[in-house]
Amino acid sequence: MTQPLLSARNIHLTYSTTTGLIRKKNVATTKAVDGVSFDIYPGETVGLVGGSGSGKSTLARIITRLIEPDSGEVWFDGELITEISPDRMRLYRRDIQVVFQDPLHSLNPRRTIGESIARPLLNFSTPKKVALAKARELMEVVGLNPDSVSRYPHEFSGGQCQRIAIARALALEPRLLILDEPVSALDVSVQAQILNLLKELQKRFGIAFLFVSHDLGIVRYMCDRTLVMYRGQIMESGMSDDIHDLPGHPFTRNFIDTILTMDGGARWLEVASRIEDVEGTQMTTEGCVFQAACTHAMPQCRVTTPELRSVDDSRSVACHLYNEETGFSPSDLNSKYQGE
Ligand code: SF4
Repeated sequence: MTQPLLSARNIHLTYSTTTGLIRKKNVATTKAVDGVSFDIYPGETVGLVGGSGSGKSTLARIITRLIEPDSGEVWFDGELITEISPDRMRLYRRDIQVVFQDPLHSLNPRRTIGESIARPLLNFSTPKKVALAKARELMEVVGLNPDSVSRYPHEFSGGQCQRIAIARALALEPRLLILDEPVSALDVSVQAQILNLLKELQKRFGIAFLFVSHDLGIVRYMCDRTLVMYRGQIMESGMSDDIHDLPGHPFTRNFIDTILTMDGGARWLEVASRIEDVEGTQMTTEGCVFQAACTHAMPQCRVTTPELRSVDDSRSVACHLYNEETGFSPSDLNSKYQGE
């Protein structure tokens, strides 16, 4: 059986808000990531989807150790990387690369794009001539003219800058690429080009992707499996098509139902902030994090946090509606909505 390339186990991270300049006083704590576990297998694309404040980008940064969790484990290729030294972690940075949302700001404006793409190789002691030759090669791979190697980022469009950022991420031949909202800052017309480029690159190099997005439509297009996050927890995980066609968690169902469709349903837009507005003043510390906005909430939901449990061959859902006695299924949830 194939072993996961990356395993995250029971990741927790809490942020505290303080007041006072000298004597700091905690006024609030927010669970940014609350007990999240998941696996990524070699060569697959896993989508991490949720609204703003759901914890998806924080989780992605924890995996790369750009942020340290309060507790939990991240395993990569059989090694517990949350406990290794920064020197040893440096080696793993070859294998795990990140592409950020804002392509222009992720590039150093004072470096030519050739220098930017070559930088990761230079950091690992590759001779400059070899690194710059590789940069030219990578520019071709991502669909840019290698003769532009001496130009600067401001001379390129947003889509071209994202191609440069992708080329830089590929320089060290990673095995896992974390794509944090890689197209959300781009024009819709350019988004499809970048998504198709990523698909081609994955096919060619066999890299696993963790694709972070607020857009379920894009996640469905890109990802084999999807994890739906809300308030730092995974609400539902499963095959992307299943979650899109037959959501299993009331949050996912709401996420879809309240989304405006621009072209008759083919594209989904995120309006999860509406859901968050409902809950914004009703932070709950016990029970289900979605209880204040859930039309199915039961007394049990106020006191017990539902665990993510398997509800069919490939799907897990964190919701008390599902239990062995009732045999509740995603179809039951969706027929309830159709009947309303
Ligand atoms: Fe709704 Fe209860 Fe399920 Fe939470 S656990 S989503 S409140 S039914």
